[in-house]
Amino acid sequence: MNRHNPPIGSGTPRSFRSMWSGVRRLLGGFSELIFPQICLVCESASHEPLCEDCADSFLRITDPVCEKCGKPCERPVPDCRECRGKHLHFTLARSGGVYTGSLKNAIHSLKYRNGKRLATHLSKFIDDEASRLMGDVNAVAFVPLSKLKEAERGYNQSGLLAEQLARRHNKPLYTKLAKVKSIPEQHRLGFAERGDNVKGAFRAFGKVPERVLLIDDVYTTGSTASECASALKQRGAAVVYVLTVARTPLDGSKGDHRRAVVDSCKCR
Ligand SMILES: [Zn+2]
Ligand SMILES: [Zn+2]
Repeated sequence: MNRHNPPIGSGTPRSFRSMWSGVRRLLGGFSELIFPQICLVCESASHEPLCEDCADSFLRITDPVCEKCGKPCERPVPDCRECRGKHLHFTLARSGGVYTGSLKNAIHSLKYRNGKRLATHLSKFIDDEASRLMGDVNAVAFVPLSKLKEAERGYNQSGLLAEQLARRHNKPLYTKLAKVKSIPEQHRLGFAERGDNVKGAFRAFGKVPERVLLIDDVYTTGSTASECASALKQRGAAVVYVLTVARTPLDGSKGDHRRAVVDSCKCR
């Protein structure tokens, strides 16, 4: 079940694509009813959509981290070589784990394999960090998808995570951050290119809370989170904390274990 479906070509008419995505969602829903006891990450028998082995193998990011961007460092630093000199609009960013192994697969399932039920588990994975930040915010927001992408997928994975966290911590959900510019895929772009790519891509509407916790699935260079924070601040937010489920490993670290991440730290 839940095998990755072949992509429908970009030349496919939009009406067919949206019909196809509807069929995929329907089949995904049925298969979850028929075969409910399987791990959506490793496909072994499991009473939960995420089995204990997969959950236990998530590589959690622990202190010390860079105080600004949350990169694992040898000791706490106010900024690090990853974020120093970048004009990041958010107040600080934190991530639950390293984007590798089972955690990477779980996020893929959440996004591309109709793994909506994983949102509960992944939001719980970052709940401790959320608890630390929640006392200082008025609302929870999330990085939006374009309308077309959200219609094709049927949901926004970051929105699902944010909903769960907001409900659990009794905070209002701010839903009026929108992606107003479609941007090319960000894969393999550096911070500067990503920054140019996403500039002006987001806009906040309505009354923006003063202190916001912004949720996303993966932190890569910080450019998307920074642009979202900029949009929120343009409409009155003073503080924007960012919390993501995972963070991509650094160049050369291969992301295999935290030691490698720390070894690549040249921030001291
Ligand atoms: Zn598993
Ligand atoms: Zn940093």
